[in-house]
Amino acid sequence: MTATSMEELVSLCKRRGFIFQSNDIYGGVKGLYDYGPMGVELKNNLKQAWWKSMVYERDDIEGLDASILSAPVVLQQSGHEDTFSDPLVDCKTCKARFRADQLENSECPKGGGFLADCKLKDLTEPRPFNLMFKTAIGPVDDGSSFAYLRPETCQQIFTNFKNVTDATSRVVPFGIAQIGKAFRNEITPRNFIFRVREFEQMELEFFVKPGSDDEWHKYWVDKRIEWWEAQGVSKKNLYPVDVEKSELSHYSKATVDIMYKFPHGKEELEGIANRTDFDLGSHTKNQKEFNINSKVKKNEHSTTKLGVQNLEDKNSYIPFVIEPSAGVDRGLLAILNEAYTIENLENESSRTVLKLKPHLSPIKAAVIPLKKNNEHIVAKAKKIKNELQNLGLGRVMLENSGNIGKNYRRHDEIGTPICITVDFETLDDDSVTIRDRDSMKQERVSSKDLNQFYQKYFH
Ligand code: ATP
Repeated sequence: MTATSMEELVSLCKRRGFIFQSNDIYGGVKGLYDYGPMGVELKNNLKQAWWKSMVYERDDIEGLDASILSAPVVLQQSGHEDTFSDPLVDCKTCKARFRADQLENSECPKGGGFLADCKLKDLTEPRPFNLMFKTAIGPVDDGSSFAYLRPETCQQIFTNFKNVTDATSRVVPFGIAQIGKAFRNEITPRNFIFRVREFEQMELEFFVKPGSDDEWHKYWVDKRIEWWEAQGVSKKNLYPVDVEKSELSHYSKATVDIMYKFPHGKEELEGIANRTDFDLGSHTKNQKEFNINSKVKKNEHSTTKLGVQNLEDKNSYIPFVIEPSAGVDRGLLAILNEAYTIENLENESSRTVLKLKPHLSPIKAAVIPLKKNNEHIVAKAKKIKNELQNLGLGRVMLENSGNIGKNYRRHDEIGTPICITVDFETLDDDSVTIRDRDSMKQERVSSKDLNQFYQKYFH
């Protein structure tokens, strides 16, 4: 039986050290979460899987890690200063604030119940609320020199377009990939790590010739669904939806949102937008030359031309860009939701097991000495742990903390694919027991074959 209510996931995440409310001991801050010992491993593994599929396994994508603090001019030219806002309403009675386009799902923080049922509500007219966080740059905080915390990771990909093409000699079609933090002052953060104020994005900007953009857009929608499936998200819970023209962001010609059936409802997991030549066109010098003045704010600041040469007619043009933009945190929520399983066992007991894909599991293998005070057994377990750790496939844990049943239960709940037990028999014949997380089957393997078994398992 797969669960899953959000409460069950939140409880498992706290109990087993995946995710904690930020600033917990001071009462917590809404919309901020911290990743604990298991969460950081799971998150790193997910990001690594994305990076591997984008940068290492392809020959047409380069990586980037750009700054979070962004000069205001970048976000002026990109249109974010003018348009990156949500409609805000206030309740004149209780002073609470809500997103005007999400009123039907909003709860009154004072009354407790749904806003629709609140007899005292008295809402103002909606007004735009810009979601970008500002901070001061430099030692004098007089408002004259400020920066934005980037609300999406991609703008620095566009501003680095020429740096990257100069340094790598790339020609279109090619992409630039980046993983990093983004910040949005969401009016109503909610649903655990689904809508938060500080989150991570995995973004690819894939530059193509105008005219080939529709085809590339479709290609990336298919690719991204395939990738989520490989991370254990079942296709039946993924819904690609064409965003209505009236709902498109200011830069987009067409967007497909990959929706996922989260425990709280169907919502966006990843957006794949055809951003046309809007961004490079907005950031380029000499906009007139590219005939794009009508579409974007006039740029008097950029020092760099962001066009490329058409090799056939030698004219310069601004490439179009297809952007698959995925949230790391929403991805983790989907993956945890898919993996969370409650299994009924014999004698009417049950177990909770996180059936994560092994490449995502925070701990790849737990090595458990059966007698924690026996120095020979513990020394052998340590030796095995170190050898497996040195194979470099992820974290291997030495468990020297209690009885075997408790260890199995804990490792089922954090999704460890295999547990390796070292016991008295090991000292006699050098064999160990391997227990498989999903089948719970145990087999005896000679410890000299262990490395090979382990490597085979993870490949
Ligand atoms: P939504 O409509 O849900 O607010 P969005 O369309 O504004 O999302 P994008 O700007 O397309 O989101 O961002 C790309 C991805 O970044 C999203 O698909 C999502 O996975 C992630 N993301 C965006 N905002 C948040 C947030 N506040 N918290 C967590 N992840 C987010």
